[in-house]
Amino acid sequence: MLDPTLSQWLDAQALDLDVGSGDSQKVLSWLAAADVLRVGVNQLEGGNGKTIADAVEVLAQIASCSLAAAFVFCGQRTFIEYLIKSPNKALREKLLPSLLDGKLAGATGLSNAMKFLSGIEALLVTASSTEKGWRVDGRLPWVTNLRRSGFVVAAAVEGTRDGRPFILAIPSTLSGLKRSDDLQLIGLQSTNTAALHFTQLDVNREWLIHDDARVFLPALRPAFLGLQCGLAIGLARRSLMEVEVRIRGNRSVLAETFHEQRRRLEHLVSDLKSGLLDGRFVAEPTALFCLRIAFSESATNAVNLELQASGGSAFLSGNSHGFARRLRESAFLPILTPSLVQLRTELQRQGGEAVVWRPAAASRVHG
Ligand SMILES: Cc1cc2nc3c(=O)[nH]c(=O)nc-3n(C[C@H](O)[C@H](O)[C@H](O)COP(=O)(O)OP(=O)(O)OC[C@H]3O[C@@H](n4cnc5c(N)ncnc54)[C@H](O)[C@@H]3O)c2cc1C
Repeated sequence: MLDPTLSQWLDAQALDLDVGSGDSQKVLSWLAAADVLRVGVNQLEGGNGKTIADAVEVLAQIASCSLAAAFVFCGQRTFIEYLIKSPNKALREKLLPSLLDGKLAGATGLSNAMKFLSGIEALLVTASSTEKGWRVDGRLPWVTNLRRSGFVVAAAVEGTRDGRPFILAIPSTLSGLKRSDDLQLIGLQSTNTAALHFTQLDVNREWLIHDDARVFLPALRPAFLGLQCGLAIGLARRSLMEVEVRIRGNRSVLAETFHEQRRRLEHLVSDLKSGLLDGRFVAEPTALFCLRIAFSESATNAVNLELQASGGSAFLSGNSHGFARRLRESAFLPILTPSLVQLRTELQRQGGEAVVWRPAAASRVHG
């Protein structure tokens, strides 16, 4: 259970964080104060010793209150996961304490890398070797959690020497790094989401997270996608909670759909958690792709059911019980990289099969 002080603050701030009148600088401090950033991190490294499945659950609980705050958590926690999995112990020891206590913001500009691995687009950041490390040029068009008081961002970089892409942490203090103004969004506005431009940026070798993106990213993918699933889980649960209190009386016709959606969602959640814990998603990424798609659809369906259960009151701007915000939040899930289009394309490429989710085994079914 989320600390009640945090959930009350998130509930109170959710609309402001979505439309941009919230204080985006404070989100990480509140998350850190409730110690949620330590969930799933080894105790020896300053964590609380739980699992990545517990981190997904925490993320879902935050997303039930505010998807904007949950996406900030997702960026921060994913960056922490990169460091945990990085062979660069010195970098981990240097950055982890300030990331875990929310003093430093961690951002992941890796949607470009994920698209690159799937052959969708070229890497947008390149580097040439220097005596002490690399000279980096390029841009990242979308990155969240670029807190103005300072951040470190993970980027996949195309090297010129052997062409092998690698993963760098890039601190905001380097000269040659330019953060744009916040991008103007239809929701999730107070998330410090902006573009980054790198011009002749000198990055020392000590900032290397991994020297081979093609090895590192697939190993990291279960945690990366699992945390993303938490966004949809939280949103779906919250909409279904809103449905539950409204389906009595003349809306009871929705009860069967409500129970079916809730049952299916929790089956999906237990499949996700067991797969994260037994490690099967490393060898079976398609099972996880299917789950990501299914969670996103569950959230969309739940928000739609909430609309039907609420009727006209959901459409009144001043009286929508958060529905309008959740509708905007749900629009984010299908386009988050890997987007549903990218996941479906990848699944099609790997077998040309229709993909459906089945309880207890996120499975692929011949169509
Ligand atoms: C709120 C939010 C936060 C995000 N945070 C991150 C993050 O932290 N890290 C990360 O790596 N990615 C982040 N992204 C990027 C996201 O994961 C997708 O990469 C992005 O939504 C584009 O996906 P796509 O593949 O559909 O776009 P594409 O297929 O690349 O583009 C689809 C169309 O949209 C246009 N387009 C795309 N982006 C822009 C833009 N910025 N300005 C103008 N036109 C554009 C393209 O030119 C193209 O015509 C974020 C996106 C959003 C909406």
